[in-house]
Amino acid sequence: ALRLAVVNGELTVHYQPIIERDSLVATGFEALLRWHSPIHGEIPPAVFIPIAEQTGLIHELGDWILKRALSDSLGWPEFIVSINFSASQFKRADFVESICSTASSFGVPFERIQIEVTETAMFEDIDRASSTLSELQSLGFRVALDDFGTGYSNLLSVKNFAIDCIKIDKSFVDGLGTESESAAIVNAITHLARGLGLSVTAEGVETDMQCQALRLIGCSHMQGYLFGKGVPLEEANEYYLAYRDADRRVVADGTPYSARAAR
Ligand code: C2E
Ligand code: CA
Ligand code: CA
Repeated sequence: ALRLAVVNGELTVHYQPIIERDSLVATGFEALLRWHSPIHGEIPPAVFIPIAEQTGLIHELGDWILKRALSDSLGWPEFIVSINFSASQFKRADFVESICSTASSFGVPFERIQIEVTETAMFEDIDRASSTLSELQSLGFRVALDDFGTGYSNLLSVKNFAIDCIKIDKSFVDGLGTESESAAIVNAITHLARGLGLSVTAEGVETDMQCQALRLIGCSHMQGYLFGKGVPLEEANEYYLAYRDADRRVVADGTPYSARAAR
């Protein structure tokens, strides 16, 4: 079924806003794959991505989502587009080249593209992973380390790999305000990242309390249902236009945008 899904147009991409800490304004969208099967209904990526990995279909899916997300991102020229890559995609010999050629063919500047990888994707061949990330960064791409705190969380990876951003996993954000351990971990990761000059995105922010705690701790960006779920392209485009116009209104009437953007 997954093999046919690409051909039959059953896949779509949703876009979740990435919010900047001080202004509470979006600065980008993360592309999230969606599969609506006419036979099986909505199938979450946590179910089908591992199957795509096992069957090798991930390459076809990955090429498809890369093209889709980059061409969609032409509608929001001031935003970053953040794209997930799984371990086997990252290990492909032509990984960097395929991203460069797709970005060039759509005319998307490399600086607007963020590549999300997990540490797990890098540990099989550290030397190669390290040179791939350096190459990406020197070409101008942004690199984000996804799900930080859930895998090996090897501090050497933060020190030696060319990354721009650490994404703190939702499981730690969930515990803010209820478990002292989570707050301590989020605090430590944030200070580590900031000390290294990296940006820090907290994932899965659902409540005002979490948002305020993360702003106090010093996370530079947030994502989560508090600000918005992943939405189809049309809604993402509308969202972009509303934010862009709101930004202009701030200049026009002097009202701080953050006062309106909290929801
Ligand atoms: P991820 O990259 O960590 O993406 C974040 C997941 O958390 C997304 O689930 C998103 O919808 C969900 N999420 C965001 N904010 C909240 C929140 O406030 N509360 C809750 N409960 N959930 C929130 P989704 O879309 O089901 O994706 C699951 C995973 O599947 C992703 O985790 C990523 O690892 C993978 N994935 C999704 N799209 C792609 C893709 O295009 N390529 C690859 N290789 N993997 C993908
Ligand atoms: Ca991600
Ligand atoms: Ca994540």
